[in-house]
Amino acid sequence: MGSSDTGLNGETAVDVPLFSFRVEFSIQCPRCDMPVHLDGPVATVHCGSCRSDIDIPRDYWVDTLLGSCRKMQHMEKGGGRGSILLGTFRGDLTLTRVDPCCDRCKTEFIDPWHLEPGTSYVCRQCGIEYPLAAPPEWLRKGVPGIRLLINAVLVEEDPSLKEIPCPVPLSCPSCAATLELDGSSRVIRCSYCGDDVYVPDTIWRKYHPGGRKRRWFVISEFSNEDAEA
Ligand SMILES: [Zn+2]
Ligand SMILES: [Zn+2]
Ligand SMILES: [Zn+2]
Repeated sequence: MGSSDTGLNGETAVDVPLFSFRVEFSIQCPRCDMPVHLDGPVATVHCGSCRSDIDIPRDYWVDTLLGSCRKMQHMEKGGGRGSILLGTFRGDLTLTRVDPCCDRCKTEFIDPWHLEPGTSYVCRQCGIEYPLAAPPEWLRKGVPGIRLLINAVLVEEDPSLKEIPCPVPLSCPSCAATLELDGSSRVIRCSYCGDDVYVPDTIWRKYHPGGRKRRWFVISEFSNEDAEA
């Protein structure tokens, strides 16, 4: 919890108590059912498996993050909650009530309650850089009290950057015929000799880079929803 009574740049700031929690979020692609990570409140996310773009409505983000803030503010530090979501999307949301820390070395951030949006935080232990972003206007309206997003993606990167050089060359180990690969199935049948070929990890991962789920943090004020209700 913040303890100093001066904010950044020496301005006098009312020291509102803040809390933070970590978010790991994925949804099931409505077209192909493969998991797609939501690494921040993006408007669109690209499914690497079927290459479709999935629109994530703002309302969905507001509902999810408002609910998350309310649950987490009552949670003991270190506590967490995983849930399978149904509704607009089938999803998987894991929240953990922890102070911001480095994803790699777990070192806690120094003074996480006075971080400045638009900059980044560099882990003093391992040097990894974490972007700090102010929540977009629409999100602040929907989720009053939300202050800062750490390591969150706000704009989905151009899917063309993620496109796989097509076709990925792979030949049948039995007859050396070229196999047709589209990333939808882990085992493909050679159309020449009929052998089933297991797609090697290195190639499979190009289609399914999902292993790197990004964990991000939300910093929020405590809300007084009981008094408002
Ligand atoms: Zn898909
Ligand atoms: Zn670190
Ligand atoms: Zn073959």
